[in-house]
Amino acid sequence: MYLYLRRRKTILTLFISIVLIGLGAGEFCCAQKEDSLRTVLNQSTGNERISTQLDLALHLIDSKNNESLSLAQSALLMAQQKKSQNQVMRAYYLLGRIHLVANNLDEAESCFDMALEKSDSVGEFWYRGETLFRKGSTQHRKGNDSQALDYLYQAVDACLNSENFVCLGATYSIMGTIFRINGLYDRAIEYTIKSKLSYRKADYEEGYAWTAYLLGRIYADLKHPEKALESFLDAERSYQVMASIDRNENGIAICQEQIGILNMDEGNYVEARKNFDRVLNIHTKSGSEVGISSSYKHIGMIEFYQGNYVLAENYLNKALVIKEEIADVLSLSSIYEYLGLSMIARGKTDQGIELVEKALELAIANNQKKIQIDIYSKLADIHLDINKPNQAIIFQNRQIEIQDSIISGTVSIKIEQLQSIEEIEEQNSQIKSLENQNRSKALRIQKQRNYQWLMVFGILVILLFSSIIIWSNNRIQRKNKELNHANTTKDKLFSIIAHDLKGPIGSADGLVNILADQIQQKDTANLEKPISVVQKTLHETTKLLNNLLDWAGAQLLKIEFNRQTLHLNSMAEMLKDQFDLEAEKKQIDIRLSIDDSIQVYADQNMLQTILRNLLSNAIKFSEANGVITFSAHDSDRFVQLSIEDKGVGIPLHMKDNLFNLEVNSNRSGTQGEKGTGLGLVLVKDFVEKHGGQIWVDSQEGFGSTFHFTLPHSRE
Ligand code: ADP
Repeated sequence: MYLYLRRRKTILTLFISIVLIGLGAGEFCCAQKEDSLRTVLNQSTGNERISTQLDLALHLIDSKNNESLSLAQSALLMAQQKKSQNQVMRAYYLLGRIHLVANNLDEAESCFDMALEKSDSVGEFWYRGETLFRKGSTQHRKGNDSQALDYLYQAVDACLNSENFVCLGATYSIMGTIFRINGLYDRAIEYTIKSKLSYRKADYEEGYAWTAYLLGRIYADLKHPEKALESFLDAERSYQVMASIDRNENGIAICQEQIGILNMDEGNYVEARKNFDRVLNIHTKSGSEVGISSSYKHIGMIEFYQGNYVLAENYLNKALVIKEEIADVLSLSSIYEYLGLSMIARGKTDQGIELVEKALELAIANNQKKIQIDIYSKLADIHLDINKPNQAIIFQNRQIEIQDSIISGTVSIKIEQLQSIEEIEEQNSQIKSLENQNRSKALRIQKQRNYQWLMVFGILVILLFSSIIIWSNNRIQRKNKELNHANTTKDKLFSIIAHDLKGPIGSADGLVNILADQIQQKDTANLEKPISVVQKTLHETTKLLNNLLDWAGAQLLKIEFNRQTLHLNSMAEMLKDQFDLEAEKKQIDIRLSIDDSIQVYADQNMLQTILRNLLSNAIKFSEANGVITFSAHDSDRFVQLSIEDKGVGIPLHMKDNLFNLEVNSNRSGTQGEKGTGLGLVLVKDFVEKHGGQIWVDSQEGFGSTFHFTLPHSRE
């Protein structure tokens, strides 16, 4: 057991160095690559130069650590000058690794912190994973396992994100180791298997072999020799595949060594000896002094257990010489211990005890407490054998004391670490479940957003269709209105022709016949009255016919109107002349109040129709002796024309529909003059054609004023 514990520490250190070196396996040293990188470096500039310089620094990280450091430092400066965040991140990361190789853990950590900060700001996961893994393993090297786990869990996420399965495998592997040395074997096995799978996924044979080897170590610790053997053989198979390519058999040696230790513990000394001989053979070939001396030590131990003490001492002495030469102080105490035990077994008790006590001194100096316990127990046995019970009791008490200190120390360390590990695991699972919740929340939100977009889209489509429908409905309604209007117009036209035109012409026809008869019978005395009736009828009919023709022209034929600048006063004078006779009959005074300068921009025929109708209405609805005033005002934008009479006025109910063809506002004049209700409709139509407006101010019994506007000149 003591052997196990002792070996474990040495090999743990080896683990990490191999993993760290293993991760850089793609960056193997070869002079050719170095030359070609130097050539490219000499030819390149700008970003390419920084990148090549970093590649070269990485390449020289182990062989020329100092040059590697200065290359990376100057690359960092260039990257900072160029403000290339990615290159700055890479440079810091590499500097961290260079310091790690040089064992400057604090510098390494601060460089990794900078690299991490940069990787966060540029959202880069590959370097983030690599950096966090190295931060974790540095903490582990410093003995801060809970802090190490914290970084390693984050490294796992970043590696998964960037699909960096080699780094993922290494991360899981160190986590497995941390769990193992803290006695959490179930988790150690779980993480080591995860590591093995990640390496397999990355097709990284060396990583796979290493984790299989680690699994074997865990099973060996757990005293499962069969399972341990299975794993060591699995690892060895992979190492053999690699050795067939690169001829490096170190991997085979570490597996054989462990298989040898398993056999030694089981008492299979012959088998164990074969294993250690193989290990020795491999190390002899590669010239590894550490390996050779360890093999001698193991062979010496086997010879001791088999009772071949001289041979044992021989091997142990060979081991001792080399270990002292290479200053592998940690291995010295167990060699002295077995040397002493062997001498005691050979009867050289005093010399033997001396050596065992030397082993004890070394163990105390190197703080190898578990070896101290083993030696105290052995010294107690030896002193009992040589009849020195008091001495034996002292050694036994020392053994118990150290055992207690180790146990209480270990227990407190373990409890502390276990708690933080538990806490981290707990936090980690909480983070995982929060992440899952967030993920499903994000999915839900995304779904809702999709629905919302769909709904918005749907609403837009519905709105579009509705507006198309509304627009076409409006069009149809407008068309319908136009059609209805055209229909009404047509009906009105026919009713006017049928009634208002046929009636007077019919009666005029009758009167003319009577007149003809009277003239035939020479009855000329009573001709005056019928002639004046015919005259009046024909006059009104002509008026109607004019309006009808104007109206039909505007409404049905849609004739173009031809605008020009007209001198309003002259037109008014002319019109007044035309109406003078009619006005005179009712003794109505038509007064003009129009500034001579006023001009309008209008179609002459239409303006005449407008004014004729308004003047004619004013006369028609004025009592005898009335006054009609035709005035005009020029404003900035238009001319306002007004025709005022002091006649019967317009009742309120009629006012609103005066200009509407559908509603009949037709009344007879003050002297029974007939009308058709067509005039004002026509007037409004013509005014609006000019862009003007028409309205009426009227009070029943007090007269009416019709106002309308016209443009005074071309706009
Ligand atoms: P008509 O004069 O041929 O009947 P109009 O369209 O010119 O047709 O006029 C419609 C109606 O408006 C008239 O019948 C009358 O009732 C009313 N009206 C028009 N002008 C005047 C006015 N100056 N004073 C009083 N009522 C008027």
